[in-house]
Amino acid sequence: MLAILHPNTELDSEAYRQTMHYLENLPGVSVRVHEVQGASQRLTEIYLLGDTKTLNKEEIEALPAVERAIRISDDYRILGRHKDDHRQSGFTYNGVEFSQNNLNIFAGLCAVDVPEHVEQMMQALEDNGEVCTRMGAYKPRTNPYSFQGHGKGCLPWVFEKAGKHGIKVIAMEITHESHIEEIDNCLEKLGRPTGVMLQIGTRNTQNFELLKAIGRQKTYPALLKRGFGITLNESLNAAEYLASEGNANVIFCLRGMKTEAGQPHRNMVDFAHVPAVKRLTRMPVCVDPSHSVGSRDRSPDGILDVMHATAQGVIAGANMVLVDFHPKPEKALVDGPQALLMKELPAYLEDIRLCHDTWKKRQAIYQTLKDSTAE
Ligand code: PEP
Ligand code: MN
Repeated sequence: MLAILHPNTELDSEAYRQTMHYLENLPGVSVRVHEVQGASQRLTEIYLLGDTKTLNKEEIEALPAVERAIRISDDYRILGRHKDDHRQSGFTYNGVEFSQNNLNIFAGLCAVDVPEHVEQMMQALEDNGEVCTRMGAYKPRTNPYSFQGHGKGCLPWVFEKAGKHGIKVIAMEITHESHIEEIDNCLEKLGRPTGVMLQIGTRNTQNFELLKAIGRQKTYPALLKRGFGITLNESLNAAEYLASEGNANVIFCLRGMKTEAGQPHRNMVDFAHVPAVKRLTRMPVCVDPSHSVGSRDRSPDGILDVMHATAQGVIAGANMVLVDFHPKPEKALVDGPQALLMKELPAYLEDIRLCHDTWKKRQAIYQTLKDSTAE
């Protein structure tokens, strides 16, 4: 059971004290408080765990600080979408809104290499009105002798360039909890010229200690990649780990599944799961067509498979696109063969806008049907 308190309930108020006294004394029930800071108000959610089957919803709703109560299932308690649950999805970070209804594009370098390439990338984004990017500083690599990323050494100049070009959010994978502090210290020292979304890679989807560490802080939102060899349910539970520790600003990223059956693509593209994740949870959903498709192969219609996969995800309602670009893919230190080119950026953005608009129109045509079948 979830009890949602009246907005902006003060934790030292009499109503809060009475409510908590009642809830904390329910036999066999433990209480967990979760704070949600929205743009204009603060919401307190109280999760009642344990023996909650016999609880009376009306009685809980009659408590002085409670606005309404919702019966929730065991799965994805915080991030899930439960029956009669009309809580909002998404959050705003560094002035950028993330929700299940809008779309943000994170085009950028798979791995930071030299300042010149970062500069060219960010300039191109600025020229095209984009305010988000991806920049890998800590790279998880299959081969221990491959380039592992520049690590904290590149953070100062990457963040400074981001600030200069008006980039507000950088998706950056971290592979160890100490990286949170490295990023935070650097941003603080520079006066926070940009923001960071902490990315958890597919190899770390079930690294529970890393998830808990990212969940314990609330400064940075998280982008959780689906595990490439586990079920969707297992990956969604991994996302719930972040929320259960206190950070519910989580975006879920589909990036393909590892199976020989996906060939000739690097992974089996799984973007049909976009609506499924949006139905099961309140998380905005991201698609990563680069790591799904993994090449610059082009179909006879003249469109790259990466672009087709992007279109499939966006037309199905994806809320974010994470995609590899590089000014000189032949010089890239990681994943050059799948990178899109600077000259392809404007057309790609136009294609994505077209697909996002089409998704909105698709909703409108089915809305009429939904209304008429409801009668
Ligand atoms: C990446 O986005 O750079 C990456 C390594 O992706 P994944 O974890 O999905 O393989
Ligand atoms: Mn990569």
